[in-house]
Amino acid sequence: MRVRSLLDLGVDLEKLKAKLLLKVEMPNGPDGCWLWKGHAGKRVTRRLSYGRIIVAGKQFYVHIAMYEVFKKKRIPKNLVLRHQCNTSLCCNPFNCLKPGSQKRNVKDAVDSGSHWSPRGDTHHSASINAETARLIRSLAAAGNTRLAIAFILGVSLGIISKVIRGLTWREA
Ligand SMILES: [Zn+2]
Repeated sequence: MRVRSLLDLGVDLEKLKAKLLLKVEMPNGPDGCWLWKGHAGKRVTRRLSYGRIIVAGKQFYVHIAMYEVFKKKRIPKNLVLRHQCNTSLCCNPFNCLKPGSQKRNVKDAVDSGSHWSPRGDTHHSASINAETARLIRSLAAAGNTRLAIAFILGVSLGIISKVIRGLTWREA
């Protein structure tokens, strides 16, 4: 039987999040593109290549895995997961990926000639958002040290410590 969603596998999602994030670079912080540095499949075209991972013996696209694992949502059956930033190796489930129709997907790729980052401004560690706070907590819950989290997210140790201790973003 073909598995349609990672969420049907019954794997530990927090561990999977941590595993995925270890192979991601966030040159513009968590709000910008998350660039996949792990395995990528054969190029679809000269410019397009999609990250892939194996979970429980089955292969998944990294951007879809990220979306499902972080949003805990499936992609609706008739839709594809579109890269709003037009960067095929990006897998930021919060800012760059959105379900849409295949037709729209192709149109977008044609329309945008160059790379576009929706919120590509440099991330200032002094101001994190609720998503980053949640990310810090998931990474900590998955057993990552504060130092590792600081490295992965590019956020200062002081902020990470405050979030983990519940001093800030308690409601996130
Ligand atoms: Zn992106």
